[in-house]
Parts: sequence; C-alpha cells; structure tokens
Amino acid sequence: MVWQADPVDASDLESDLAKTLITPEEISDRLAELSRDIERDYEGKDLLLVGVLKGAVMVMADLARSLDRHIEMDWMAISSYGSGTTSSGVVRILKDLDTDITGRHVLVVEDIVDTGLTLSWLISNLSSRGPASVEIFTLLRKPDAQRMQVKVNYVGFEIPDEFVVGYGLDYDQRYRNLRQIATLASHVYS
Ligand code: 5GP
Repeated sequence: MVWQADPVDASDLESDLAKTLITPEEISDRLAELSRDIERDYEGKDLLLVGVLKGAVMVMADLARSLDRHIEMDWMAISSYGSGTTSSGVVRILKDLDTDITGRHVLVVEDIVDTGLTLSWLISNLSSRGPASVEIFTLLRKPDAQRMQVKVNYVGFEIPDEFVVGYGLDYDQRYRNLRQIATLASHVYS
C-alpha cells in the first residue's frame, strides 16, 4: 500500500492568521531595491552572503537571485529562540560556516532583528575570524532593535512589536512556507 499524506487544507492555514503585514509582492519589490544598493556598495569586491538558518532561508534564496552579480553563499545555524515567542538570550552554534572568512566581505542575511541579542553575538563571533568586513542585512526589524549599538546596513521593513510568521519565520516550526509575513490568530497560541 502506498502511504499518502493528508493534503494540507489552505483554508486551515489561512484561518490561523490574524493579519497580513507584508504581501509577497511588497517583499519582492523591496528585495529588488535593496539588491541595487548592495550591488552598488560592493562593486569591485567579492561578496559572501551568510544566511542564518532556518528563518533566513526564503529571504536568502530570493535576495541571492535578485542580485545581478557573482556571490557565494554559506549558512550558519544558531539557537536563540525555543518554541515560544520570547528571546531566550542564549545563543549557541548548531552549524558553523564551511567557509574560511579571513579577508572576505561578509554580508549576514537575517530574517528578523528583535532585541538584537542574537545579532550582537553573531557579529562579534564573525569579526573575530578576521574578515575584510561584516555587514548586516535583515528583512524585518522590530522597535527594540533601534536601541541596539549594532549597525544594520540593510533593512527590508520596520515592523511593530508583534510576533510574526511566514516567509521563513516559524511558530513552533510551522508557517515558514507562507508567502507573506503575518500575525497569528490567538487560538493558535492556546
Ligand atoms: P533577537 O535576538 O534579535 O531578540 O531575536 C532574533 C531571533 O529571534 C530571530 O532570528 C528569530 O529567530 C527570532 N524572532 C524574533 N522575533 C520573532 C518573530 O516575531 N517571529 C518569529 N517567528 N521569530 C522571531
């Protein structure tokens, strides 16, 4: 007998969402704008994009394809959140880079910066490896991040202080495959 998964009911998924904050079209338009900035800023320099797993998978894939120049891609996995919705402040490396970044221009690609704890840790970790530069790209930034000392060079969207999912961002490992950025209905949390 052939095993078959239950088909995902799209209306079930939709009913879990409270509000769409950013549409797929808005995301792709903004990525195109920021890609032109990145092409200009890194003209004549090699560029290594470092994606932070798993949340940055979608933005990394779309940003990389939107860039009209050579790039390399590598990935790090770090833990910062558990399965809840508040930052634990605890960061550890689950998967390190395969690339030696000594002398390289590194652009970290993040899904979201909230308190900035994860990012501060990541920047100091990468900077200690002797890169030519380490700059930050984030698709989303929350208000608390404005108080951070760390400079974020490229920001897709400033969003309110709400927990969001979609386009790579999860709640308890689900909703990453939504094409938009959305908030969740309260019944999902209960
Ligand atoms: P920070 O250390 O800046 O407080 O948190 C950064 C990490 O927390 C992000 O990379 C992301 O994994 C997670 N995070 C922060 N805010 C949200 C949110 O609104 N939704 C989701 N799904 N994850 C978030």
